Amino acid sequence: MGQQASELSPAAVIGAENVDESIILAARDVWVAVEVGKEVKPIVQGGRLSVPRGGIVGLVGESGSGKTQFVRSIMGLSSLEPGVISGSAVYSLPGQQAIDVLQDIDDFSPFRPPGPGETHPVRQRIGWSWVLWRRRFRQRLAALRKLGVGFIFQNPMGALNPYLCVGTQLAEAVRVARPSATDKEAEEGVLHWLAQVHLKATRETLGLYPHELSGGMAQRVMIALALAGEPHFLVADEPTTGLDSHIRREVVGLLHRIMAGGELSGIVISHDLPMITRLCDELTVMYRGRVVEEGPISALGDAAAPNHPYTRELKERAEDLAKGRHSARGGGSDGSPDSTGVVADLGCVYRSRCIIHRLDLVDRERCSAALPTLSPTVAGGPRVSCHVEDPDLLADLREISAEYRSRGRQGGMSDSAGSQRQGSEAVEVTP
Ligand code: SF4
Repeated sequence: MGQQASELSPAAVIGAENVDESIILAARDVWVAVEVGKEVKPIVQGGRLSVPRGGIVGLVGESGSGKTQFVRSIMGLSSLEPGVISGSAVYSLPGQQAIDVLQDIDDFSPFRPPGPGETHPVRQRIGWSWVLWRRRFRQRLAALRKLGVGFIFQNPMGALNPYLCVGTQLAEAVRVARPSATDKEAEEGVLHWLAQVHLKATRETLGLYPHELSGGMAQRVMIALALAGEPHFLVADEPTTGLDSHIRREVVGLLHRIMAGGELSGIVISHDLPMITRLCDELTVMYRGRVVEEGPISALGDAAAPNHPYTRELKERAEDLAKGRHSARGGGSDGSPDSTGVVADLGCVYRSRCIIHRLDLVDRERCSAALPTLSPTVAGGPRVSCHVEDPDLLADLREISAEYRSRGRQGGMSDSAGSQRQGSEAVEVTP
């Protein structure tokens, strides 16, 4: 597969002694920020993600949680400036030396992450030109893509080249993986990958331009393009957004068939928890720029290994939707946030919506003043970012939440959170 990792900047190559062979991607403490006027706003705060070799990780969160920017940043697809400002993202792809695409980044970024007692990234003097660094970073990531990373984008119409027909785009993708392929071999490759996504490889299909494709066909072509590069690692960003329910089911079935073999590793980004449950082995949950849970998908809803209150809320909302009920919980039923933006302060990011916090079942001062670290709810269970140390309280959350909503409707349950404010953010009481 073309280029070797050693062709990248030597600084990016990691010694084998420092690499966990069971992990194909390990991203740690990733900070992403944008400059808005004179302010530096964090979008991703200390993001982390581990993808086991042969495993698929679902990255879940509402719109505005930072999940897409997090992954796009560690894949070099982010158009944000300045974008990533610190962290590490070590790829250990089959047959390649491990590389950290973010290595040295904090030496050259104009901003650094907040230190103790600080809430926002801080401007710093840089020892090298940002533009030069940016070029070097892009070179590393371009090379990474050639090493075998494929992408399925959220908006296939925007990602396909509008000037090239389907057959030409696929043939180009085949040649990325097999540069010495003859015309006949490239054509065979095109037919093979079209068949893999259940598209008829007729002359007519091959000659279609993106604007002539239906939504479902465009998504299938996008998947075929990603697969034609023969990736070891696949990233699917909201792969079913905008598709009607019938086509969505077909695309999820297709992805399931592609990803279930155990040969491919990857990430699926979505707010669609049922789809993530079907496709993935591991779950990482983000809320307002922070990872609040990570662990095996099998632990989702397991009372013996309780989830983070936000994960529980997402799960209950998905169940409500499946039953045709509109959710009365915070946030939109389509996965949109109840209020936008990242919470950049020293406390728990979820506290404005947390029922445990509202009902005073936890040390509220601690939730407001100290960021909880990720730790297992029970031995071997999911790692959650929460100050609650009693797993039974987290496990009972469904009943607590149901009673809260029911009494709230009757106007009989006091809420000690009331209309308090969290920093500059208004705390809404639902219902
Ligand atoms: S730390 Fe506090 S506010 Fe945050 S999820 Fe846990 S109980 Fe709720």
